[in-house]
Order: sequence, then C-alpha cells, then structure tokens
Amino acid sequence: MVCDILIQANTILTQDPQRTVLENAGVAITGDTITAVGPWENLSRRYTAGQTLNLNHAMVMPGLINAHTHAAMSLLRGVADDLPLMEWLTKHIFPVEKHLSPEIVELGAMLACAEMTRLGTTSFCDMYLIEDATYRAVDRAGLRVLGGEGIFMFPSPAYADTERGFDLVRELHERWKDHPRIRQAVMPHAVYTTTPEILRRCLALSQELNMPLHIHLAETVTETEQCLAATGLRPVQYVHELGLLTPKTTIAHGVDLTEAEIDLLAGTGTVVAHNPESNMKLASGIANVPYMLQRGVPVSLGTDGAASNNALNMFTEMTSCALLHKVRCMDPTCAPAQAVLDMATLGGSRTMCMPDIGYIAPGMRADMVALDLRAPNLQPLHNPVSHVVYAATGAEVCMSMVGGEVLYNDGAFLKIDYPSLLKEVSALRSWVREKLS
Ligand SMILES: [Zn+2]
Repeated sequence: MVCDILIQANTILTQDPQRTVLENAGVAITGDTITAVGPWENLSRRYTAGQTLNLNHAMVMPGLINAHTHAAMSLLRGVADDLPLMEWLTKHIFPVEKHLSPEIVELGAMLACAEMTRLGTTSFCDMYLIEDATYRAVDRAGLRVLGGEGIFMFPSPAYADTERGFDLVRELHERWKDHPRIRQAVMPHAVYTTTPEILRRCLALSQELNMPLHIHLAETVTETEQCLAATGLRPVQYVHELGLLTPKTTIAHGVDLTEAEIDLLAGTGTVVAHNPESNMKLASGIANVPYMLQRGVPVSLGTDGAASNNALNMFTEMTSCALLHKVRCMDPTCAPAQAVLDMATLGGSRTMCMPDIGYIAPGMRADMVALDLRAPNLQPLHNPVSHVVYAATGAEVCMSMVGGEVLYNDGAFLKIDYPSLLKEVSALRSWVREKLS
C-alpha cells in the first residue's frame, strides 16, 4: 500500500482508549490522517511511503493541546508580574491591549505559535482581541486552533460596541469556516465583563452557528463576591440559569467552586480548562481537580496567556498540575501522571470539540510530536507516561507535526521564518514600554 509519510519510532505513546504503548513501532499517514499504527516490521512491509521519518531515537506521542490561552499575550510576557488578578488585568494588561493593532496581534500570535510548536503543543484554544489576526498567524504557522473573539460589554480594539462584536463573530465564522485547521467558538470574556443579555445572546449564537462556548469562570473569590453582589448568585449558578452549562461549553479556571457546583458541572457535561500555573502565579487559588475527576467532569489543561504563566509550555504545566494537587491533598496518589497526561490530550480534544485529535490511532488527525530519548533526563526509559509528566521539559521535542505536515524538525522551524520573527518581536519592545508608561 502507498502512504505519504511513514514514521519509524523507538516508542509510541498512543493515548488510545487502551493507553497502548508500542516499542519499535511505526505510524503511516495519508494526507492529514493516520492510516495505520503498529509494529515497524509489519508497517514497513505493508507500506511504501513518499517520505520516511526516522525517529528511532525518539518517543512519538500525540501533540499536546493547550486548552486555554491568549496567544498574542506572548508580547506582554514579563511586563507585570507578582500582582493580584484584578490589579494586574485593569492596571497593566487592559491599558496596553487598548492600543492593539492587527499587525501586533498577528506578531504576538506568531511568537506563541513558534513557542508551542517548539515545545510540543500542536493545538490550542485561544480567546483574544482581533482574533482574525491570530487566525492569520495560525494559518501560516501550521497549528490547529479553536479561537474566539473575546466578547465584552465595552468596546474592544476589534469593535466599537458589543453589537458590532456579535457581527464580527459572524463575519469571522464566514471567513474561516472552511479552513482545515481553524475552528471558532463563541467566547464571552467573563461574567464581570458581560451582562446577562450578552451571555444569553452568546449562547443563542453558539447554537445557531453550531460553535462551542468558552468563558473564564469562577477564577477568584473576588469574582464570586462581585457576582453575588450584582446578581445574587455565584458564577456557576448564574451562568447555569442562563443555560450556558452544556457539553460544548468550557469554563476556564473553575477555581472557586463548591462541591455542589462541581456536581452540577458533571451533570451538565461542562468541561473545565484547568490552568494551574496561572492560578498559582496570580494566587487565584487551587481548583479542586481531584474531586472533578472523581465526579467525571471532563478536565482539560491550559497555560493561560504568557503574561500570567509566563510560558506556553504544556510539559511543565503537566508537572505543576501533578505536583500541586498532591501537596494540596497531602496525598501523593492525587492527580496521577496518566490522569494529567489525559487532561493535556483527551481533555483538550473535549474543549476543542474535535474528537479526531488527542490520541494516535487510524482515522485520527496526524497531530504528533516526538521527544528525543537521548536526552539524559529521559534515560533510562522505564515508564513513558512518567517521563512525559515528571521528567520532560519540552526542550527534548525534536519533531512537531500537525495534520501530517512537519512544522519543526531537528532544531529547525519549517513553516516559520524564525530569524525574521525574532527581529520583529525584539523591535516591538519599545512599543510595549511606551504604552505601559
Ligand atoms: Zn485566560
């Protein structure tokens, strides 16, 4: 049989429903789809390929899925650290974001795409302003995205008022709906930046255009207090009464939740995008992920924006996630490595509403990355899942592929002109400084 690409790997961590791990194995790819996975001996006999990728020294695994980020905020990395959420957001982030242009957003998103590609993330869920510019970056960089224009009750750099914001969502939907790697969601920013009417309209629009819904929710105790004062309800109950909790909804953070609220998320099939490092850095709190998993809430993992993390690194995010819950529960069996890797792959596919990504099997999209097992911190290889969650740093990624297209290989970006990108990003430092002062 003929296929486009054959990958030969030392180890394949498939993350398939049986969590199969294969040694001396291969993957056959045709177009953007995986056509076969199995022992190399069989595959190499059955297939002739246009291209063979020799990854004998590497472990191939599904590309990681960053379930909550704001890609273009990579340009604001390190501009304001060590502050509480509301002060950080209103005094440092919003004042700069007010001046964003499509060119700047595209540049920031491109930098984020380079970082994610380099660190083994192949798909991400993105909420930002002037999202059209982010789609242009994603189109060029080759990654996969579920994006959404942030909807606010006040003007944004992308629209003069909320009504125009809704028009823009429709326009972007029309413009990008046939792109193979770009899909859209309706993304009201948060309860404290919208009104009940806006949230109702967001839900109706998501149903009309068959798009997922994504919102920051229950991130801090302050948010809960403000919501209680304004509506008489805590954030989860408030959005539930508006009908927002569904299997196609992801709430980002879910930190300040009662057990009854987690039960409600489980009952409605709502996904929680957990962002442990951002929550730690802004001291927002610790989401009760062990209880969510116990109750069957689908949990995905995200970095949040680079301004509150400060990296878009899903490997270190997995490490932080596993360690944080163990020390919170004072129980080392909490958040085991396999559950954490599941969040960064299978959970991510739930947030993205893309059931054809997240594991390696025939029929799935060919979104894969490879870790160089010759790295001293990955030797010896006793347990691949343990290495991925506790030992890998992302620096070991030697290949990233999305939809059968290699984006990064052996230290080289194949789609992004990285030297030019570096120059442009560095030239933007004075612009950011000016807007901050
Ligand atoms: Zn966020």
